[in-house]
Amino acid sequence: MTTFAGQLLRINLTNKTSRIETIPEEYLEKFISARGLGSKYLYDELKPGIDPLSPENKLIMLIGVLGGTGLQGFSKWAVVTKSPLTGTIFRSYTGGNFGVWMKFAGYDMIILEGKAERLSYVHIDSQDVHFHAADELGGLDPRNVQRILKERHGARTSSACIGLAGEKLVRYAVITSDERTASRGGVGAVMGSKNLKAVSINVPVRKFTPFDEPKFKNLIRAQIEMLRENPRRKNMNTFGTPYITLGLEKKGILPVKNFQEGSIQGIEEISGEKFYALKRAKSGCYGCMTRCGGMRDVTAGPLKGTQIDGPEYESIYAFGPNLGITDKQFIINANAMCDYYGIDTISTGVCIAFTCELLEKGLISPADVDGLELNWGNKDAILTLTEKIGKREGIGKILGEGVKRTAEYFDKNASDYAVHIKGLELPGYEPRAVKGYALSMATSNIGGSHMYGRPRPELAGKIDPFTEEGKGESIAQVQKEQAIEDSLIACTFGNSGLNMEKYSEFLMAATGIDAYSSPDKLMKIGERIICLERCFNIREGLRRRDDALPVRMTKEPLKNAGEASGQIVSKLDALLDEYYECMGYSKEGVPKKEKIRELGLEEVLRDLD
Ligand code: SF4
Repeated sequence: MTTFAGQLLRINLTNKTSRIETIPEEYLEKFISARGLGSKYLYDELKPGIDPLSPENKLIMLIGVLGGTGLQGFSKWAVVTKSPLTGTIFRSYTGGNFGVWMKFAGYDMIILEGKAERLSYVHIDSQDVHFHAADELGGLDPRNVQRILKERHGARTSSACIGLAGEKLVRYAVITSDERTASRGGVGAVMGSKNLKAVSINVPVRKFTPFDEPKFKNLIRAQIEMLRENPRRKNMNTFGTPYITLGLEKKGILPVKNFQEGSIQGIEEISGEKFYALKRAKSGCYGCMTRCGGMRDVTAGPLKGTQIDGPEYESIYAFGPNLGITDKQFIINANAMCDYYGIDTISTGVCIAFTCELLEKGLISPADVDGLELNWGNKDAILTLTEKIGKREGIGKILGEGVKRTAEYFDKNASDYAVHIKGLELPGYEPRAVKGYALSMATSNIGGSHMYGRPRPELAGKIDPFTEEGKGESIAQVQKEQAIEDSLIACTFGNSGLNMEKYSEFLMAATGIDAYSSPDKLMKIGERIICLERCFNIREGLRRRDDALPVRMTKEPLKNAGEASGQIVSKLDALLDEYYECMGYSKEGVPKKEKIRELGLEEVLRDLD
């Protein structure tokens, strides 16, 4: 008895075949589920050097072992693939119901491989996997696709789908399910490259019996009790992530005008309270009592007259201060435009901010961007460009390639202003203001993500955020913890107050697997997952030179950022040395053989040789 489904569904889109496979127990012990398990399968099944947008790439959808069990904040789901933005291993998370439906259908993961002959969708019910042509869904936005699939296959149908941008292979296209998106890394482009518009599931609810059911039920009760009065959860429930905006700006962490500055006039206009005033209803993921989402009215663009779930803090940063804007309604409308076409708000906002700065510096002219007057804060031009990216039209074709490739296209030192790590546009956390973030993002195996190892001690003010010395060990630690949280898909917002002891307790009651029986054992699993991901990237040719920061972070002191003004990352090399030492990597950032053996990853030694 366990809360694992214990099997995967493999769908081959080229041959229109599917089969169910048992997941070896050894894999569950060594990698748990979600990010860990996805990394293991991707490493084993992908040939090095393949084009992420070719049929050889695989798209893996996964849910965690504690998902759909009644425990709070574990029912989100993940997509693992090789990213068309970064060329690295990648994982992106999202909420909604789809992951739990996948588990109800009897699978911890679905592997999608090959490429359909024409635009298609796959429907899964209790009997079988059905392959359908999807010509009539072509070009439709995710909301309409989901509505049509519910009409066809029943009101309980849950779907994961792409918008026009995914079909057109915009390199940061998203996968949408309900009102939520797996936003980062271009997972939607990979789905589009397979001619796959949607995966839908309609199956009855299924119950998984935990290893120690009475204990598991008690743990659920205690967790709900703890969360009921938890102040962070209450804040999330009322305000959602917009409530962190003002605090981050105060510390100089909120990026302004393509990371040139750290503060903006009128910031109070986009506070959590101001967005709360526009909230029309709550929304959230399967079974979650926090329900951190908020529905808000859209007043312009293709979704005008409807409501969207958002904006999250990251969309506020990307379409707000980072573009010199503090207009709430504009941010909501821009967010809605991204949702409609199915593009990532962070990558879109950063690509547009980059273009604004190139124009400001005279490195390009309006003629280079279809005549658009892209000044900071020019909302009409920004919305027009967002639409062009979503449709992959005009200059949108170039920007849809991501900021790294756009910089190469413009040339003329443009790369100095391109804010990305390994090709992934940076989220709303200024690395110069939190040096742990600088190191964590630089060494992240998926590029510039704020969710690869959050420097909690620095963010909580327990460690000086500006010091560079001594951050290697603390970042190695938080990255390992994050690898476990990602392998359970423990929602950061929905289960405050948890730690490795608690995860171990949950896992033991759920599965009885000894490999999860202590925090130390879990940390070893976390380390193994990071090491395997790094070996994937090493096999792709990445090395120390790729653990780099955007030029701006190491050369240009941060401006107008309160106490963080003047900060710069000056000792990245020393930070990397310390981090590599802690992780058991060589000076080149390659895992040492003894570390690989210690972690039980002997199978990768042949590739490294
Ligand atoms: S807190 Fe928010 S993101 Fe997390 S599970 Fe709940 S509704 Fe989903």
